[in-house]
Amino acid sequence: MPLLSVESLRMYYQVGRGFVKAVDGVSFNLGKGETLGIAGESGCGKSSLALTLLRILPSNARIIDGSVLLEERDILKMNEETLRKEIRWKRISIVFQGAMNALNPVFRVGDQIAEAILLHEDVTKEEAHRRARELLKLVGIPPSRADNYPHEFSGGMKQRVMIAMALACNPDIVIADEPTTALDVIVQAQILKLLKDLRAKLNLSLILITHDLSIISEICDKVAIMYAGKIMEYGSAYDIFKNPLHPYTQGLIAAIPSIRGPKKKLRSIPGTPPDLLNPPSGCPFHPRCPYADEICRQEPPPLVRLGRDRYVVCHKIEEGSA
Ligand code: ATP
Ligand code: SF4
Repeated sequence: MPLLSVESLRMYYQVGRGFVKAVDGVSFNLGKGETLGIAGESGCGKSSLALTLLRILPSNARIIDGSVLLEERDILKMNEETLRKEIRWKRISIVFQGAMNALNPVFRVGDQIAEAILLHEDVTKEEAHRRARELLKLVGIPPSRADNYPHEFSGGMKQRVMIAMALACNPDIVIADEPTTALDVIVQAQILKLLKDLRAKLNLSLILITHDLSIISEICDKVAIMYAGKIMEYGSAYDIFKNPLHPYTQGLIAAIPSIRGPKKKLRSIPGTPPDLLNPPSGCPFHPRCPYADEICRQEPPPLVRLGRDRYVVCHKIEEGSA
């Protein structure tokens, strides 16, 4: 049984002119110690999906239907107190997009981690500070740096601090939303290595959200390609990179620059993702898809299962075509 099992999840934002369908029928599984990468262009609903899993949503968000089973318990059916006391931080924690810039400049880094521990665990101040130093060591920062202020840390170190905070209550799952965006490539590689090491050391499950497929190819076991609030292709990273089936996945992979192998011309996908307040009829990718025809423009595409853990949402894919 998977650790996390998400089924037909829908979350819309209510706005003056209707509903923004940010998460529109999403299903996936995550096993213990596994890493799932969620990829797609900006505005496809990746962050909204992460926020829906933990139900940390703005007041105009409406969870329409679906389930989010953590082992056998449905997070969508829990009351706020259970979520606060048992789930957030303790079972699932999140490193928010751009969070490293949210460290408070006037408090020492160690104090900020200790504060997070004190907020969620019944421990003494001394114990919280001891754990804060242990956590810094775990993410590769000398514990003596606990007494420094955020401005004394580089961007990569601040991101390590945010990861340490996410680990403060020993969660089973960490969701990292664009954890390496805004870092230079060398620091990006170091943060990815850290996540890999932590996964192995702590048997952590990771959900990594990114617009950068090359990051996913380095670290993830499974991939979900998201477009217009839907997962268009889902499967093992090996299968998806070896044999991408959905035209959107093919487009994203063709746009990854490579420094190894023969030079190839990079192709970008023409157009931009749709307005989710008013998505296109039929397949939401049809205005950008080179294979679109009349049925694509009119009928929503079916979810075609190609194995226990692989599916594609497209009119042109038939069962058994993987
Ligand atoms: P990015 O990588 O840029 O963060 P994303 O794939 O994570 O993009 P989301 O941020 O989840 O996408 O946004 C999905 C859609 O929901 C977008 O159309 C966005 O404008 C819309 N959206 C996000 N928050 C709200 C809100 N509070 N009210 C209305 N619409 C929202
Ligand atoms: Fe392209 Fe049609 Fe498949 Fe959509 S359903 S991805 S438009 S071929």
